[in-house]
Amino acid sequence: MLKTKYKTLLLIVFCLLVLSLQVISAKSLPLQDTIIMIDPGHGGRDSGTYYGEILEKDINLEIAKVLEEELIKKGAIVYMTRKRDIDLSSIYDPAKKRGDLYRRLLMIKEKKSDLYISIHINWYDNPSLKGAEVLYNSINENNKLLAQSIMQQFKRNLNSTRTVKTTDLYMYRNTTTPGVLVECGYLSNPTERNQLQTKKYQQQLSSSITEGIINYLKKRNKIKYVI
Ligand SMILES: [Zn+2]
Repeated sequence: MLKTKYKTLLLIVFCLLVLSLQVISAKSLPLQDTIIMIDPGHGGRDSGTYYGEILEKDINLEIAKVLEEELIKKGAIVYMTRKRDIDLSSIYDPAKKRGDLYRRLLMIKEKKSDLYISIHINWYDNPSLKGAEVLYNSINENNKLLAQSIMQQFKRNLNSTRTVKTTDLYMYRNTTTPGVLVECGYLSNPTERNQLQTKKYQQQLSSSITEGIINYLKKRNKIKYVI
C-alpha cells in the first residue's frame, strides 16, 4: 500500500517537473508573445522597382516569408499585410497607392502590433551602390532605436556600410506603432541583385532583422522572459 502511494507521489512530482520545464522553455523564447506585423512592400499592380523580369514585389514577399519563419521560431506572433501577390487597395479607392498603404496601416493597428517591419528593395542609378539599410520616421522615439539595432546587425553580418536614415513617406509618418522600413539591398547592383534572390541571403537578412529586433527589445527593457 505504502509502496503504491510512494509511486503515485513520485509520478505526480515527475509530471509537475515536466510541466514546469515546459513552461520555462516556452517563456525562454526571446520574442515570446511579441506581435510583429511584416509588411512586404508593393504587390499586385504595383511591382515596385524592377530589373527586367525581376520584380521587387516578388523578392519582398520571399524575404518576408523567410523572416516570418525566423520570428515564429523565436516565439513571436507574426502577421503579414499580404501573403500573396496582391495590393490592398479597394476598387472604390480614388487613389490606389494611398488606399493600399492606408489598409496596411489599419492592419498594423487592428492586430495590436508591438512593431512592424516593412520590407523593400532599393534602386539607384549608380550600380556600384549596395548594402542593406534601415529607414525610420521620428513620430515614435523607439523607431530610431529599432532602426539602429537592425542596422548594427546588417553591418556585422552582411558587411553593409550603409547607415540609418529618416523617411517622411506617408505610411511611416501615419502610425505611432514602432516600426521601420528595411531596404534589403540594391536591385541596381549586379552582385546584390543575385544575392537577394537566393534563399541563403534571404535567410541572412532575416536572421539579422530578427537579432536586431531582439536587441531592440532588450534595450527597451521589454523582454518578456526570465533569464
Ligand atoms: Zn519598394
